[in-house]
Amino acid sequence: MENVIIEPQTGRALEVARGSLIEVVDLEGRQVGDMWAIDSGAPDRWLSTAHTRDRLERLFPKTGEAFTDQTGEPILELVADTSPGPHDMLYPPCNAPLYEAEGLFGHPNCHDNFLGAVTAAGLTLPVVPDPVNLFQNSPPRPDGSLPVGTAASKAGDGITFRALRDLWFVLTSCSVDNWPTNDYVCTPLAVRVTR
Ligand SMILES: [Zn+2]
Repeated sequence: MENVIIEPQTGRALEVARGSLIEVVDLEGRQVGDMWAIDSGAPDRWLSTAHTRDRLERLFPKTGEAFTDQTGEPILELVADTSPGPHDMLYPPCNAPLYEAEGLFGHPNCHDNFLGAVTAAGLTLPVVPDPVNLFQNSPPRPDGSLPVGTAASKAGDGITFRALRDLWFVLTSCSVDNWPTNDYVCTPLAVRVTR
């Protein structure tokens, strides 16, 4: 098993073989991780949150269901989830303008950490796809609002996926420390890959 620590406010891209199990563990609890999956054989195909919602007609897959790429083809299966959830598939990654609007200039952010991780992996994407925001506690309310509360995950909670192709798995440990999202402190995540 490969065990990779994603330090607070950073990101990594890991090359994962088809059939591998990938577990993302919230080591200390209440920490969101932004996740992307990119087909390593066809890097213009990646996990699309919009197309996954379309194919499943759900806000988030159930255990045993798959996230899809932009053509609706499965790319990553949700195998198990020991966290209480919820997870988010509506928000973009946090980004510099979001922090700048709060007067925070030069703040680390998942958008730039994604770009750094894929660049280090030698990948070039035409856009930053919307991520799957693991452990992000922002379920839609009946009145249409989407307030972001503190992640409900506890230390050691994890969510497990199966790679349905050879892919690049990208995870950022979310940088938000000025909002309840991560309980105002950024902590590490672990990615455990089993062939
Ligand atoms: Zn973030």
